[in-house]
Amino acid sequence: KVRVRFAPSPTGPLHIGGVRTALFNYLFAKKYGGDFVLRIEDTDQNRYVEGAEAYIIEALNWCGIPFDEGVAKEGNFGPYRQSERKHLYKEYALELIEKGHAYYAFDTAEKLDFHRKDHEEKGKTFIYNWHNRLKLDNSLTLSKEETQSKISSREPYVIRFMSPQDEKLHLKDIIRGTIEIDTNVLDDKVLFKSDGMPTYHLANIVDDHLMEISHVIRGEEWLPSLALHQLLYNAFGWDAPQFAHLPLIMKPTGKGKLSKRDGEKGGFPVFPLSWNESQGYREAGYFSNAVVNFLAMLGWNPGTEQELFSLEDLINAFSLERVNKSGARFDPEKTKWYNHQYLQEKNDEELAGLFQVVLADKEIPRDARDDSYVEKVVGLIKERADFVADFWDLSSYFFEAPNSYAEKPVKKQWKEDTPALMRKVADIISATKDFNSANIESNIKAWITESELSFGKVMGPLRLITVGDLKGPHLFDILAMIGKEACLERIEKAIA
Ligand code: GLU
Repeated sequence: KVRVRFAPSPTGPLHIGGVRTALFNYLFAKKYGGDFVLRIEDTDQNRYVEGAEAYIIEALNWCGIPFDEGVAKEGNFGPYRQSERKHLYKEYALELIEKGHAYYAFDTAEKLDFHRKDHEEKGKTFIYNWHNRLKLDNSLTLSKEETQSKISSREPYVIRFMSPQDEKLHLKDIIRGTIEIDTNVLDDKVLFKSDGMPTYHLANIVDDHLMEISHVIRGEEWLPSLALHQLLYNAFGWDAPQFAHLPLIMKPTGKGKLSKRDGEKGGFPVFPLSWNESQGYREAGYFSNAVVNFLAMLGWNPGTEQELFSLEDLINAFSLERVNKSGARFDPEKTKWYNHQYLQEKNDEELAGLFQVVLADKEIPRDARDDSYVEKVVGLIKERADFVADFWDLSSYFFEAPNSYAEKPVKKQWKEDTPALMRKVADIISATKDFNSANIESNIKAWITESELSFGKVMGPLRLITVGDLKGPHLFDILAMIGKEACLERIEKAIA
């Protein structure tokens, strides 16, 4: 059975890279009728951040990619928070010692520091491994009795993995194929710390095994740990899950990994939800399905030209074989493009509902914003909007008279005879009985033709008066929408 997990550490808000990892796990699980597990990896007490776990859960829910099993959603493999599984890990570390794959090490921080510096001075990097482990202070050099007495007298120790010497590993990754590693380059990583907690490596392997995880899908930054993880599975005598390491998400320039700072500098979100000073996609007005769609395309492609995918479509089309090896460049403009597309697909009624909140905020009286009126407005302007938040700037003149006119067009359009012409337009408007777009248009145009005027001479100023600028949809539609009275008021105000 396919069982995958998303295993974040609660060290802060989830970056969109993390959401992408969660999404690919979700898609893979759903495609194969499997389970998607959320495990919280909180063994590093120093990096624990209050509220991060709740943030992670809220973010997954907002994206519409909920987990099947995990914290606060107990399944058969709980608890799902590693701090609550603490009692479990030590026996596994001891099992590895027993089997000759791990050992106690008593080296003090000072001593390790000394070795590091000493190596540095000689232009070398110190790694704790086969090369020098016998010169250091650990149970491989001490007798069983000495080791025991140090432990009994509460001397601090860690338990280290004993990397094998002179072996070639052939690691398998679904996305990257076979990776060859020489075990002599590996260090003897700490598995169990002096504070009684396992390290990430031990807890991660033990839990993936106990939770019967079939596929580990995670970010490329974990690829360097793959050798150790595979060796740990071998040492325990367990079958390893299959691995897939997702490509990094790169800065918009393509150089280097996307960071929080890139978002701050570029004015675009890199978090799903806001967190302190950092704005999230939700708060920036993105639709969650647009965010999910663009995240899916970061490192994966369907092999066709199709760009718009519902979550259903993604589940059907997704495969790990179509995930790229190389980094995926993050493009904030493309993100907006996705939101624009999703906004066009929404019906006007739903968008009007969202816009009503903004209008209420602007204190537009209720009778100036009937639901059907707002729906019509939205229908006329949404094509030009990426976000609901753009609606007000695109349509405020449907709700209130412009309080200023754009300077440049005024200079160009407003002539000496303009007030007189507008006075005449007001008369025509007044006299138009059935006040709809077609009637206004034919009456005004008839007069323009009769008087041998140019259209621009009339239409430019009239648009300025009504809209405040030379923008917006068909002018006669606007006039009909705002109504006779508002048209006359706006003309009066302009020529007074
Ligand atoms: N706790 C790790 C993280 O924060 C999990 C890595 C993994 O999936 O193995 O990303």
